Amino acid sequence: MAFTDQQLTGLGEAYHRQERVSCPTCGAMLEAHEADQMSGEAKGIDVFFACHRCNEGGMYAAGRNPEPLTEAQQTAMIERYWRSRSGRCPRDRAVIRYTEAAFIGAPALVYARCPICGVHAQSKETARAEAGS
Ligand SMILES: [Zn+2]
Ligand SMILES: [Zn+2]
Repeated sequence: MAFTDQQLTGLGEAYHRQERVSCPTCGAMLEAHEADQMSGEAKGIDVFFACHRCNEGGMYAAGRNPEPLTEAQQTAMIERYWRSRSGRCPRDRAVIRYTEAAFIGAPALVYARCPICGVHAQSKETARAEAGS
C-alpha cells in the first residue's frame, strides 16, 4: 500500500526543512530520491520516498507556479546566501537551494529556489543576467 498524499506532503516538507523522515507505517528511516531539478520551471523539488522494510513508497509533489515573492523578500533571500550560504523560505521554512554561476569579468549570479513551494529569486549584481535559458 502506498503512502497517502497527506503523508507524502508531510514527508516532503519535513525533508526540505532538513528534518528526519521516517516511514509513517513502521517508523524506519526512509530512502529519499530527489526528482530532476533542472527543468527551469518555477516549481519545488519532488521527492520519491521508499521504505525498504515494509516496501511502501510514493512521490511527494512539490508546489508549482507559486505567487512570486516581494522584491524585499527576494533581496533578503539572496543576501542570506552571501552572508551565510543559508536561507529559509519565508512561507514554509524550507531550506533554500542556491546555485551560483560565475562569469569572467562580472559578478557571480546567484539563483535561489524554495524546494517546497517553488518560489525563486535571482541576484541583481550583474547586467548579464537574462531570464530563461
Ligand atoms: Zn516502513
Ligand atoms: Zn517555499
